[in-house]
Order: sequence, then C-alpha cells, then structure tokens
Amino acid sequence: MRLSVLFLSLFLLVASHARAAGFHITVLGARGGLEDGNLSAYLVRPEGDPHGVLCDAGTVLNGIEAADRAGAFSDLRAPLSTQDTRAGFILHDVIRAYLISHAHLDHVAGLVLVSPDDAHKPIYALPSVHGILNRNLFGSPVWINMTDEGTEPRLGMYHDVDLNVGTPVSVPDTTLRVTAWPLSHGGMESTAFLIGSGSDAMLYLGDTGADSIEHGTHLHALWQAVAPLVRMHRLRGIIIECSYDNARPEKLLFGHLTPRLLLEELRDLQRTAHASLRGLPVLVAHIKPSLRAGADPVKVISDELRAGNDTGVQFTVAEQGMTLLWR
Ligand SMILES: [Zn+2]
Ligand SMILES: [Zn+2]
Repeated sequence: MRLSVLFLSLFLLVASHARAAGFHITVLGARGGLEDGNLSAYLVRPEGDPHGVLCDAGTVLNGIEAADRAGAFSDLRAPLSTQDTRAGFILHDVIRAYLISHAHLDHVAGLVLVSPDDAHKPIYALPSVHGILNRNLFGSPVWINMTDEGTEPRLGMYHDVDLNVGTPVSVPDTTLRVTAWPLSHGGMESTAFLIGSGSDAMLYLGDTGADSIEHGTHLHALWQAVAPLVRMHRLRGIIIECSYDNARPEKLLFGHLTPRLLLEELRDLQRTAHASLRGLPVLVAHIKPSLRAGADPVKVISDELRAGNDTGVQFTVAEQGMTLLWR
C-alpha cells in the first residue's frame, strides 16, 4: 500500500493548489454485450474544456453520432477550417486519448473499426492489456497493427503508453491526469482509471468481479486508495458495471457484478473511507441485454439497486447519448 500512499500524497499536493473542476460524462456506448452499436465507451471531459479521454471504446463512431443527435456536444464548435464531418471533428479533436480497461471485444471493437480514419493519439493501458491487444488483435491476422508496438508492419496511428499501477500521468492536450489500478475480471486483469482534473477526480471501472467472488482484494485496495478523496468530497462520481441481476448464479458471473455485489462493494468503500457516500453519483454501466421475450434487465437491475441502496448513492443507469455533469 506504500505506492498508494505516495500517490495520494502527490495527488493531494497537486490538488491543494488546483481549483475545483467538474466533469462532463457522455455515454457513447452503455451495454455489456449483444448491441454492437452500443458497447462500453464513456467520454470524460473536464468542465470548460473541449478535450477529453474515452474510457473504453466498444462503440465509437455510432456513439458519437447518437450522442451528437442527443445534444451532448452542443457546446462544441468545429473550427471553420476543418475538413471533417461533425462526427470526424469529435473523433479527431475532442477525443485526445483512449483508456482501455481490458482487451475484451465489447471494450475495443469501436476502436479497431475507427482506427483507419482516426487521428494520432495515445492508448493508455496496463502492460498486460497492451500485451493482449498487440498479440491477438493489432498485428494479428484479424487487423493490421495500428499501434507503435508489437508486430511489424506498425502503422503507428496509436502510441501505446504503459501505465504503472498507482502512478498518475498527465494526458497531453488535456487538463486530465490518469492513474490505473488493477481489477480482477474472472481471472483476467482489468483496470480502474482514476481521472483527475484540478482538485477533483472521478473513477471509471472496467469489468470487475466482487472481491468476495474473485477471492482477491483489488476492489478493497482501490477503495483504500480513493478513501481520502471521498472524505474530502473530491470524488465526483463513479462509473461501475452491474452486468447481471441478482438471480444470476455465482458460478455464471464470469467476473462481473450484480446489484447485491455492487451494493456490498459500495458498503466496503463507505466503511473504508469512514465517510458517507450519500448523494455520490454512480453511473451503472455494462448491463447485459437479454433476447428472452419479456425480459427487462435494465428495469430489474434498477429496481434491485434501488431496493438495496442503504448507502444513499445516486444511481443512474447509463444510456447511449446521455451526458451528465459531475461537480
Ligand atoms: Zn465487457
Ligand atoms: Zn470483459
């Protein structure tokens, strides 16, 4: 835990000299499967700054167009000189970096598909995630290598940046700082990104199982790391998955959360922080759609979260095109 203490001292030192700043969160893709035009992708921009980062990239272009139709980018004007379409401007100019939690297709499919027409930008990920992307996707027989690492020929559209756990890095062309923490996702390493702007921060979690099911302590370690931010009311919100409803058997969770397990983890955060979570925005991501007639997982999961919400957090189920302002 010494790393996290060092990180927090650094964060607080920087934060104590910085002004508060909120975050615009725009949902480009909300679901955790099946809907190929609506898969995990969350654009995070600091308030008052057009430039942001995309947390996961399951759906990119379709999500930009849906969010633009919904008015999510009404504050943004493309430069008069641009040759780009509106969606091209948002892809090229607004999204300045990708943060990839893990290499499952529902988190990277959109990135792969826009890559031939993207702008040069960094991909931030833990080394294990870059390793999987560069062995099995970019530079494999399924897609040409668009990055600057791995198999030749490398087209170098994307600059791979390895993140070290607990060490913040600044994202060029933005006012954002990013810190990665490992998560356990059914035996695969996934990632939580703490995104800082000024004195504030928000948390994006990629797919994760609960500590009790994964037989690990990654989530507890994350809660310990962000506890001081919670105490100081500087954590502006959390994006976290809740893939299945409570009826899903534990042996079929495959490294995901249910409402019961998500509520259990939020209680652990509250206990660890010794502070109330009342009113903290929690954006519920990655619900798995169902093709069973009459099934409505969004409604069931919303109801189960509301019924068990003893920490008083403010749950919102993510929907494509939605924009939230957390401040
Ligand atoms: Zn997923
Ligand atoms: Zn996954």
